[in-house]
Amino acid sequence: MTAQIIDGKAIAEQVRADVAREVAAFVATRGRAPGLAVVLVGEDPASQVYVRNKAKQTTAAGMRSFEHRLPATTSEGEVLSLVQRLNGDDAVDGILVQLPLPAHIREASVIAAIDPGKDVDGFHPVNAGRLATGGPALVPCTPVGCVILAKSVRADLKGLDAVVIGRSNIVGKPLAQLLLKEDCTVTIAHSRTRDLPAVVARADLVMAAVGRPEMVRGSWIKPGAIVIDVGINRVPIADGKSRLVGDVAFEEARAVASAITPVPGGVGPMTIACLLRNTLAAARQRLGAA
Ligand code: NAD
Repeated sequence: MTAQIIDGKAIAEQVRADVAREVAAFVATRGRAPGLAVVLVGEDPASQVYVRNKAKQTTAAGMRSFEHRLPATTSEGEVLSLVQRLNGDDAVDGILVQLPLPAHIREASVIAAIDPGKDVDGFHPVNAGRLATGGPALVPCTPVGCVILAKSVRADLKGLDAVVIGRSNIVGKPLAQLLLKEDCTVTIAHSRTRDLPAVVARADLVMAAVGRPEMVRGSWIKPGAIVIDVGINRVPIADGKSRLVGDVAFEEARAVASAITPVPGGVGPMTIACLLRNTLAAARQRLGAA
């Protein structure tokens, strides 16, 4: 079997086009565009690229983008007061604080300060709790993107054995919750899991979010499984150059799976697309409640 390649770029483009159409309808009825504020502290080069792309795609979807770039020396108190200001700003429907923050700022304190109704990253404990208990939550963007990709090849995931590798708060745990909502039987594997190959071999749906280049081998994968690779790992190649690979050995897995996401071009493009969806949802929720 040679797996179908799930084209995350094309699916993300579709999600963004749907959001743009719904934003136009929102503007027509509400008289203003949804607004997303992004806070970047420090000069981390990868974060700067993410923030630039977020702003570009936000305005391309017809929404307002507010960028707040602060020096690495900014204190936690200053970040918290900016968050408070954004919480109270009616033009701002979504607030995203780009992680990682400099070491002297506690990420948990900053996340907890964001109004849960504006928490478009879905990292606030209130949103994590609502997701776990089935309430109306803003859900972390990357996990939502993973489920959309899986459903693009199999609309109904009910009853599937799903293995999520990784238990982080931003990917693994919320992804497992979403798969439970899809009626999958979910196993969360992690760094202390015994015999990971045997656990993966049971899965109809494998979602890898580890951060270890090509750790998941083709021989682990059940024939016909759907494989969603969240990992983004930069590995050195010749001449001091590097390339991106996922957590799954793509060529090996492709020979066994029924469908697989590539890296790059799989999960990556879905994250910002789902961020735009969350911003629109937050704007609707706020104005609906007003
Ligand atoms: P993390 O470091 O917070 O978590 C990694 C998880 O992997 C941990 O829960 C750990 O228990 C597990 N793990 C580590 N070694 C393992 C092993 N040998 N066997 C099994 N499990 C093991 O990482 P994260 O933030 O969840 O991100 C995971 C990967 O996804 C990274 O490569 C990251 O770059 C990528 N990522 C991509 C996107 C995107 O595509 N937009 C978004 C977020 C994260």
